Amino acid sequence: MDTLLLKGKPVAEHIRQELTERIQGLKADGITPNLAAIIVGGDPASKVYVKNKARAFEKMDCDSRTYHLDKNASENEVLDLIHELNQNMEVHGILVQLPLPRHLDSKKILHTVSPQKDVDGFHPENLGLLLEGNPKFIPCTPHGILEILKYYNIPVSGRHAVIVGRSNIVGKPMFALLAQKFEMGNATVTICHTGTKDLDMHTKQADIIIAAAGSPKMIRGDMVKEGVDIIDVGINRIENDSEKGYALVGDVDTDSVMGIARSVTPVPGGVGPMTITMLLVNTVIAAENMKEFAVISH
Ligand code: NDP
Repeated sequence: MDTLLLKGKPVAEHIRQELTERIQGLKADGITPNLAAIIVGGDPASKVYVKNKARAFEKMDCDSRTYHLDKNASENEVLDLIHELNQNMEVHGILVQLPLPRHLDSKKILHTVSPQKDVDGFHPENLGLLLEGNPKFIPCTPHGILEILKYYNIPVSGRHAVIVGRSNIVGKPMFALLAQKFEMGNATVTICHTGTKDLDMHTKQADIIIAAAGSPKMIRGDMVKEGVDIIDVGINRIENDSEKGYALVGDVDTDSVMGIARSVTPVPGGVGPMTITMLLVNTVIAAENMKEFAVISH
């Protein structure tokens, strides 16, 4: 079987084209979608993500500003900044870059972001709306995965999807989406984690695998059935002798699933390009919602 590589770039470009018109519409009303990103200390991967995000917003003629706080910043400093950004009518979306340093209470900080500006979709109000099937903001990575499935016409309804990983960022929202009774859902969903006994038994039954464990090349060809569609979310740095000193690999041993799987997303270049695109989408939605609210309240 020829295995199709599900590249993220064409999907991201397609969505950005559609978004251009909406951004122009907002600009015609004097509104430029604007994201505030907060980074506390920050590991190299977070800094790269925030830099790429700023570049993507600039390319789409949107505003973004990064607030760099010292790695020893107090919880109150972070909370005060979020309160200020919640009140600022020129800011439409707020993103708190994770992971935060250990001395900070991530939950308390994420819960402080206004649900109207929560473009990551991590606030409990937005997660609740997602579970209810009426989301305001869909978390960016799972949303990007849905868009890949849609773009490449991968059937979801009635199939068995196995998600490996139950994080609040990827695994759990992915479960809520794929199990939902809607066009891009309606799957039978199994969610696996480190407490799962006999992972292979589950992955071998999957029609769709979403690998989001953060464990390099853990899903191998001998763990999947013929014709499976695989979404590889993992981004793992493996040290090597190259100039960079490392290579990026996914959670899937891509070479070993070639010829068995019907399709697989590459790493890099699969899910990765989608995450920032969906952040743009959510920031535009936030700006449109604020505009509508301003019209209603006048
Ligand atoms: P987390 O570390 O928060 O969660 C990992 C999950 O995988 C946990 O639920 C864990 O189980 C489970 N898990 C880990 N190892 C195994 C294993 N051997 N068998 C079964 N389950 C396992 O990770 P994230 O969800 O934040 O990220 C997952 C991966 O996706 C990472 O590589 C990350 O870099 C990448 N990522 C990529 C993005 C992109 O834009 N492409 C965006 C976000 C993440 P348990 O709960 O029991 O500990």
